[in-house]
Amino acid sequence: MGIFSNLFIYGMHAIPKPIVYVFARRYIAGTELNDGIKVVKGLNRRNVCATLDVLGESVTEEKKTRDALEEYKKALDAIEEEGLDSNISIKPTHFGLGISYELCYENVYELVNYAKRYNNFVRLDIEDSPYIDGTFKLYRELRKKFDNVGTAVQAYIRRVISDLDMLVDYKANVRVCKGLTYPEPRSIAYQTKREVDKIYPYLIEKLLRGGCYVASATHDELMIAETLRVVDILGIKNDGFEFQMLYGVDSELRDILVNMGYKMRIYVPFGREWHAYSMRRFRKNPRMINYVFSTIFTRYEK
Ligand SMILES: Cc1cc2nc3c(=O)[nH]c(=O)nc-3n(C[C@H](O)[C@H](O)[C@H](O)COP(=O)(O)OP(=O)(O)OC[C@H]3O[C@@H](n4cnc5c(N)ncnc54)[C@H](O)[C@@H]3O)c2cc1C
Repeated sequence: MGIFSNLFIYGMHAIPKPIVYVFARRYIAGTELNDGIKVVKGLNRRNVCATLDVLGESVTEEKKTRDALEEYKKALDAIEEEGLDSNISIKPTHFGLGISYELCYENVYELVNYAKRYNNFVRLDIEDSPYIDGTFKLYRELRKKFDNVGTAVQAYIRRVISDLDMLVDYKANVRVCKGLTYPEPRSIAYQTKREVDKIYPYLIEKLLRGGCYVASATHDELMIAETLRVVDILGIKNDGFEFQMLYGVDSELRDILVNMGYKMRIYVPFGREWHAYSMRRFRKNPRMINYVFSTIFTRYEK
């Protein structure tokens, strides 16, 4: 890590929001729904689909969970009206999982039902370990009623292997990601990339073997190669899996995979809660700061 990124991380909370926004701008579409829609349109033109994320998490007021529901409904309306190739990703704590399971279920049920009318799909992101059980419970209960809901797994979480059978039972649509996003104790999660990189292809393989649809969400060339190796061995066709990447990260790799004929979906976050999201991403990957700095005066995401 460079001196600048070290200083940035150290003093992050003292930095005025407008300055942080200059850095964050690369990784979020903007603050409004229109910004997200504009980015999705640009991606669709390049043969790339999207998943829209309204920024927000760890909500402690019931009213804010209802606001999240309304914002996501508007996003679904806009996707439909504009004829875009995009689904949505949600964080259960944005919908009240941290307040009560019942509140969260009620909100997410309404959203999945709403999405169903448009033949659209809702993915439950996976957050820090205290919310994994609640998220999988939510997934199971909704999946019994709807087929347009999916979830995610994090390779760094030790228990992940024991969750696979449940996901296979439900023939789930699963995003596989490395995790390492939320700091977790050693008892809960592997602490280094070495173990995580070993388990990642195993998750892909077990889920595909079990008849799940898998989204391999990574920017790591090795994990992409591992995904393609497993897909080839199992004879999975291009419509049986997809790659996913985050908006603002390695558009060159994104285009390489698209040009090879693979399905690619970009996670496009937008919203007024951009600050917390950006801080988390900068903390997770301080190289992002160097990366932004090296390109800040050149170009934004295409
Ligand atoms: C679509 C999508 C959805 C996700 N959903 C979740 C979720 O629900 N829950 C969750 O906990 N996590 C989620 N994540 C985050 C994920 O768990 C990882 O923390 C993150 O993707 C980094 O892991 P990686 O596989 O890219 O590998 P890494 O080994 O971290 O990175 C691989 C390569 O990409 C490069 N890279 C990474 N970021 C940048 C950058 N900003 N600029 C330039 N190069 C970069 C690295 O330098 C490295 O060379 C999601 C990720 C994606 C792509």
